[in-house]
Amino acid sequence: MDVLVIGAGACGLTTGIRLAEAGLAVTIRTAAPPEQTTSAAAGAVWGLVRVGPPDRVLEWGRTGLEVLSALAGEPGTGVRMASGQEVSRSRLEPHYWTPLLPHLRSSSPAELPDGFADGWHYTAPVATMPVYLGYLRARFERAGGQLEVAPTRTLAELAGAAPVVVNCSGAAARDLVPDPAVEAVRGQVVIAANPGLEEFFIDRDPEPPWIVYMFPHGGQILLGGTNDEGNWDETPKPEIAERIVAGCAAIEPRLRHAEILDHRVGLRPWRPEVRLESEPLGSGVLWHNYGHGGAGISLSWGCAAEITAHVLAQLSSRATRARGAITR
Ligand SMILES: Cc1cc2nc3c(=O)[nH]c(=O)nc-3n(C[C@H](O)[C@H](O)[C@H](O)COP(=O)(O)OP(=O)(O)OC[C@H]3O[C@@H](n4cnc5c(N)ncnc54)[C@H](O)[C@@H]3O)c2cc1C
Repeated sequence: MDVLVIGAGACGLTTGIRLAEAGLAVTIRTAAPPEQTTSAAAGAVWGLVRVGPPDRVLEWGRTGLEVLSALAGEPGTGVRMASGQEVSRSRLEPHYWTPLLPHLRSSSPAELPDGFADGWHYTAPVATMPVYLGYLRARFERAGGQLEVAPTRTLAELAGAAPVVVNCSGAAARDLVPDPAVEAVRGQVVIAANPGLEEFFIDRDPEPPWIVYMFPHGGQILLGGTNDEGNWDETPKPEIAERIVAGCAAIEPRLRHAEILDHRVGLRPWRPEVRLESEPLGSGVLWHNYGHGGAGISLSWGCAAEITAHVLAQLSSRATRARGAITR
């Protein structure tokens, strides 16, 4: 084995894919299968929210936008290009990253629901996460990767398991590293039968921890949500689900009687800055790739590309050193 990746959320799977498609022998070891990760609960629209630092995030995000936009043109990936709007009851400045998106324009008054004063309309890649994670896993395995479900107790115990270990453990990095800078930002969402909505919708106004958003995924619609800082509870709460549905239905009356199909909770792995850096582990290298906050689906391909370039360089200089030792 050349590389052992810890974690099978969006970050672990995309890192595993890039490394395996570069010709390396890669194993992903994960405490939970992809469909039980935080990644499975995501909306998931391309956007760089609740994450830093802005300069690196913009570069990783640019790569993510390119890759996800390309995947939207391929059948079976679970990704499509969707239009929608972010709105407010007062004046709304666009995020610093929205100019990267195609078709960005002010919402017209006719597009704004009653009571809203301002908004931005744009097109972005949107992933139906259960389908997208299934696609990522299959692509990783097609490239020769192995996925095993088994928890890792400590990173130190992985010394010697592979020349390179990549830590993509999400919010669990707080205990696993350990890294007290990691904090969970709990997000609860409701999956309902879609009564016919086609565009995504994000209301940026509600007081934290609340936010109101709707992401149509064909016959289903994902309704949100919460941004609850420091809350590590992964059990869906019925009273929160009720408030989520009521908040969405107040804006979109067609949701009032929508059939509720599922409830999901994810712990956004927040950190002041994404941790993408390496340190020694025994005679090998440990890469960290966690702390992607509310943007891990959007950043994962960019982070995976950066790590892969470093790992290929490290393994090739290690091979050169080993050859030198044999010929001496
Ligand atoms: C409600 C909600 C909506 C969101 N919407 C968006 C969005 O629209 N766009 C966007 O880009 N992002 C969005 N996000 C954020 C995004 O989901 C996260 O940033 C992303 O999922 C983080 O991916 P990850 O792979 O780092 O972590 P995770 O998906 O949490 O995966 C971590 C992996 O590590 C494994 N692991 C943990 N501990 C161990 C251990 N000890 N041993 C072995 N394995 C271990 C876990 O089992 C898991 O496989 C949203 C999040 C939520 C909750």
